[in-house]
Amino acid sequence: MNSSPKNNFSSPSTEDLKFLTDASLARLAKWLRILGFDTTVYPQEAGRPMLRIADQEKRIVLTRRQDMTERQFAGTLFLITDVVVGKQLKSVIEKFSLKIDRERMFRICLECNEALKPVMREEVRDLVPPYVFENCEQYNRCSRCGKIYWMGTHPRNALRFMERHIPNHLP
Ligand SMILES: [Zn+2]
Repeated sequence: MNSSPKNNFSSPSTEDLKFLTDASLARLAKWLRILGFDTTVYPQEAGRPMLRIADQEKRIVLTRRQDMTERQFAGTLFLITDVVVGKQLKSVIEKFSLKIDRERMFRICLECNEALKPVMREEVRDLVPPYVFENCEQYNRCSRCGKIYWMGTHPRNALRFMERHIPNHLP
């Protein structure tokens, strides 16, 4: 069967972009996870070992350290100049033309960057507050840390934050 090469060599989707932030950008990392982007945080000061990890894992480096831009690095490095996390998020979205898809939001554990898995309501009966159990049908669990997520105040607040800071990028 002949397949058209143009379909095989299209540029990779922005959905597949992965990020590595330095420790000072941990809050930005959480926002990228909320949006569904695989984002790890380098726990120490940014430097050569951080770039090595980014290279190995094919991650885009996000850093606040100006001098990192002078280092030799074959991958992509983006200097974050804003201090406000909402502006940081906006700058990353615009720099990499990230497409925000509501289907992909709230699918990654905010603590450990692990993909969440749906879990039966009965299984979380003793793990969530009773009023949550009464009012919520769908739950996800992190298979690494065990944290349970549900659609509640956190996603509502998160959506409000996004409407404030990145209104033009919401689907
Ligand atoms: Zn977790």
